[in-house]
Amino acid sequence: MKELVARIKEDGRVLGDGVLKVDSFVTHQVDPVLMEAIGKVFADVFRAANITKVVTIEASGIAPALYTAQKLGVPLVFARKSKSLTMNEELLTAQVYSFTKQVTSTVSISKKFLTEDDNVLLIDDFLANGQAAKGLIELCQQAGAHVEGIGIVIEKSFQDGRELLENMGIKVVSLARIASLKAGEVEFIEEDA
Ligand code: 5GP
Repeated sequence: MKELVARIKEDGRVLGDGVLKVDSFVTHQVDPVLMEAIGKVFADVFRAANITKVVTIEASGIAPALYTAQKLGVPLVFARKSKSLTMNEELLTAQVYSFTKQVTSTVSISKKFLTEDDNVLLIDDFLANGQAAKGLIELCQQAGAHVEGIGIVIEKSFQDGRELLENMGIKVVSLARIASLKAGEVEFIEEDA
């Protein structure tokens, strides 16, 4: 996606350890115009698939997922990382190891919001080793829901996430694919999603 790649080139900052900081438009401050355009691309790709729910994980997945859900005309459900006192119903739960925070957390979704009737599109901001996505897939499997595919805003293709998901038979659609973050430079895999 050209606007996204241009924005990463302009405002993305490479941190050590293969991490890309995009806090001025994705992960902290959010650009709603770019997010809406991202949502439209994901919705267009999956429009014919009869998606019933868009599912993401808090917090940074919510913005692109919300626009995607709006364009598809379906609800957004986001998995919560901490259990709220108001979540007193039965929960689907999975363990997720966070690449950036380096801790394992329990993520959960109320059973009432994901069922065997659902055809799910997963959305997340980054794909690194695929652990967040794997956790979301586990929640869908527990619910008996079908996972139609996953939309990723920024894929770090030098990590294992895509391979992990494709080996599970999941269709992966990434809007920016990063080949390397070496020497402080962002190198893209040249293709247009
Ligand atoms: P994975 O679970 O695929 O290993 O990592 C994906 C999750 O880690 C995303 O939900 C995102 O929050 C975070 N993440 C992974 N790599 C990066 C990165 O380079 N930059 C930022 N800002 N977040 C990342």
